[in-house]
Amino acid sequence: MRSAQVHHNLIGGHHLPASTGLAIDVVDPADGTVFATLPRSALADVDAAVAAARAALHGPWARMTATERGRVLSRLAALITAHHAELAALECRDTGKPIQQARVDITACARYFEYYGGAADKLHGETIPYAAGSTVMVLRVPHGVTAHIIPWNYPAQIFGRSVGGALAAGNACVVKPAEDACLTPLRISALALEAGLPPGALNVVCGLGAEAGAALAAHPGINHLSFTGSTVTGTAVAQAAAVNHVPVTLELGGKAPQIVFADADLDAALPVIVNAIVQNAGQTCSAGSRVLVERSIHDTVLERLAARFAALRTGRGADAPDCGPLISARQLARVQAKLDSAQQAGARVVARAQRLPDAPASGFYFPPALLADLPLDHEVAQDEVFGPVLAAFAFDGEDEAVQLANGTPYGLTAAVWTRDGSRALRLAHRIEAGQVFINNYGAGGGIELPFGGMKHSGYGREKALEGLRSFTTLKTVAILHG
Ligand code: NAD
Repeated sequence: MRSAQVHHNLIGGHHLPASTGLAIDVVDPADGTVFATLPRSALADVDAAVAAARAALHGPWARMTATERGRVLSRLAALITAHHAELAALECRDTGKPIQQARVDITACARYFEYYGGAADKLHGETIPYAAGSTVMVLRVPHGVTAHIIPWNYPAQIFGRSVGGALAAGNACVVKPAEDACLTPLRISALALEAGLPPGALNVVCGLGAEAGAALAAHPGINHLSFTGSTVTGTAVAQAAAVNHVPVTLELGGKAPQIVFADADLDAALPVIVNAIVQNAGQTCSAGSRVLVERSIHDTVLERLAARFAALRTGRGADAPDCGPLISARQLARVQAKLDSAQQAGARVVARAQRLPDAPASGFYFPPALLADLPLDHEVAQDEVFGPVLAAFAFDGEDEAVQLANGTPYGLTAAVWTRDGSRALRLAHRIEAGQVFINNYGAGGGIELPFGGMKHSGYGREKALEGLRSFTTLKTVAILHG
């Protein structure tokens, strides 16, 4: 057996082991084997990374023009594209996701650096007409040291969207990727050095959430914190950051509704609805985990969805199945417990996907499940499963559709399927979500579209130019010159 590959932190341009000398096993979700190790970092490593980022703000990075910063990011985008096959294979192995999804993720990661590279020198402040004989300039300046805590479900994409915007705006970054999957952020950070990013402008500290993650969130040396992950952890990091009055962007969970009216084009809607929950094995904050169907077509839609679920293949990501394994044994146990609890509460499994015969018994496979008759107040109807479980509910009329759509603590994304344009717009206004899709679904949406939540899904926006602005703050310079 080949020995596990040892990975290091990236601090000040150096690849370093953790100060603790400890390591975390990296497990292949497809078969449960350990194939790499990560440094299990502690406060001392976070201190070193924050100090390296602070130093970068006084070095060559700070002296680069916005155009030069943009060129570095554009070169990084090109390098990611040049290493596309290698990075996609790494993402597939690390997260378990189907290789075709991993390819999409690496393309998106490159696109974030391309987008923010192009935008770097188009971000500017404004002037304000004020008192007679004065000039007032509002400068848009970087926060300084930005911290980025990212989850395991889309390591490359979320790294790109968060770090891309922060670097374009001139910040120096400290990233704490997730312990369950962080190999692509590490590799892409090494490519960033090749692209010409000065050492210290981007630092990556691996480790456990409760150790390295908590140390970073509470660090007095950071000036902004971008967190993507669960609502519970988001609350904890926002509280830790508040002690130092550090502004926070929270990208948390969701319970996205797919609302299907009787006049919808079902041939267009149903494949998208299935993909919205099966993509990344349902481990997506914007997974379409509820399908709300107008009562007159409820049974037909359920029957047609059931046929699609039964035909789905679950297997090793490298074999390009419809659905890969879940990230870990712990996640598999969690999702299974939620399904068991739903069934005990009266939910019916209408259809279940197939497991491919060569999916190893030691892998973390959970074939997608379609549920009906789930009580509305059950936790599976209200809270994230973070697995491929779709629950169907019937509604009568627009008001009930809106009531159901808004009837969870979350408000991240939603979709409305109807041929009635006026109704679609009425719903778009009434649904509490950061993104509403009409007759399509982006499962997170495009790079150019502001993304983020309402209610317990978080606050602040990433992606788009709004994401770039969120990595800046304003400084007003008022001059009285007579
Ligand atoms: P998580 O909250 O457990 O972990 C996210 C990150 O936070 C990881 O890097 C982890 O190490 C770190 N962390 C954990 N405990 C910490 C602590 N006490 N202090 C500081 N950092 C800590 O979430 P997860 O299990 O990695 O990801 C799944 C969750 O993320 C889901 O709920 C999902 O909806 C959400 N998510 C949201 C988005 C979004 O953009 N809104 C995107 C992806 C995932």
